[in-house]
This record gives sequence, structure tokens and C-alpha cells, in this order.
Amino acid sequence: MSEAARLVAELRNYIADERVLRAIETVPREAFVPDELRPHAYDNTALGISCGQTISQPLVVGRMSELLELRPDDRVLDVGTGSGYHAAILATLAAHVWSIERHADLSRIAGEALARAGIENVTLAVGDGSRGLPEEAPFDAINVAAAGDRAGLDALEAQLADGGRLVAPVTGRRQRLTVARREGRHVRWRSLEEVRFVPLVRDRG
Ligand code: SAH
Repeated sequence: MSEAARLVAELRNYIADERVLRAIETVPREAFVPDELRPHAYDNTALGISCGQTISQPLVVGRMSELLELRPDDRVLDVGTGSGYHAAILATLAAHVWSIERHADLSRIAGEALARAGIENVTLAVGDGSRGLPEEAPFDAINVAAAGDRAGLDALEAQLADGGRLVAPVTGRRQRLTVARREGRHVRWRSLEEVRFVPLVRDRG
């Protein structure tokens, strides 16, 4: 059994969506981790990348991808590119992903990793992702990989298409995975399990 298959066997206890499990099995996570961490690429843990940031735990990437209920023709916005791994999984499940990172260095390294992994339907951008990408909106799905309060998600909520879903770690007394779904002008929010993400850093002004 390959290392990726072993990881997926473990995740199957928590994730039901077979398309998501298949994406985790096919996207080479080793392309997205620093050389010295390659031996741990298929561990079900978060790993350090540059700029003091992390590549999320596969379980959390899978869980968020499942909650986004992606369809093959969906247009997706990903906030917090980091290593680019999560964007690669989303790109395997949807038509196109726009991914925003505030550290230009990370974005460049993520671009190289995506090319190594053979993923061609991701467009990278550098900047404050909490503002979204108005010129490409609306999005069928929005994935946020850094934690902030709910008010900080207003601009992203406004960029959700009708029927669109947003998943984000939202801070409060606890940090919780939170799902929003737009139905016409109404957006329904649901708070789920506790998680731990690095902070969403917003530009002032
Ligand atoms: N999705 C990543 C993990 C992300 S860690 C992966 O699969 O590897 C969170 C990332 O969000 C970090 O790289 C951090 O620099 C970035 N970030 C934090 N605040 C941001 C903001 N306002 N806009 C864009 N990126 C942000």
C-alpha cells in the first residue's frame, strides 16, 4: 500500500466524500513540503513551511473540502495559499481556483509546487485575501485557511454566488470551523468542530 493510500485509509474514518478521498490520494503532498520534511509528507499532521506558516493537516484539508460540496464546474476562491496544497486539492475537485496569499515568497514557492504536481487550473494572487477578488466574483465556493472573526469575512460573504458555500475557521471563545451558505439574499451560518489555524492578517485602511 502506498503512503498516500495509507493516509486515505486513516482519513476514511472521518471523511465520507469519496471524491475528496480520491483527491487526497492523487495529489502528491510531497511536492508541497520543504525537502527536509519529505519523509513526513503523508503523515496526518500539519507541517512547517517558510514565513512561519504551516501546510494544514490532511484531515482538516479533507474536511473543509467536503464541507464545500464542490462540483466539477465550480469556480473557487482560496484565501491563504501557504504551500498551495489545499489549492491543489480544491483544483482537483472543481473547475478553477483563484488562491490569494499575503507573503509573495510563499506564493512563488506554491506556484513552483503546483507546477511540479502538474496542477494547471490554479491562478495565484498576492495580497489581502480577506478582501476577496471582486473582479472574479461571484464564487461557488470560498475556502479560508486562516482564522479571524466573523466580521472579517463580510467582503468574502458578498462574493458568494447564489447557492455558494464558504468554509472558514472563525474565532470566538473557541476557534471553530464555520460554514456559510448563500440562499438568495440570505446567508445561513453554521458553527462546527474546534480547529487551530494561524491568524488571518488583514491590511489596514
Ligand atoms: N492552505 C495552506 C495553509 C495555509 S496557512 C496550505 O495548504 O498549505 C495560512 C496562510 O494564510 C499563511 O500562508 C498566511 O500567510 C496566509 N494569510 C494570512 N492572512 C492572510 C490574508 N489576509 N490574505 C492572504 N493570505 C493570508
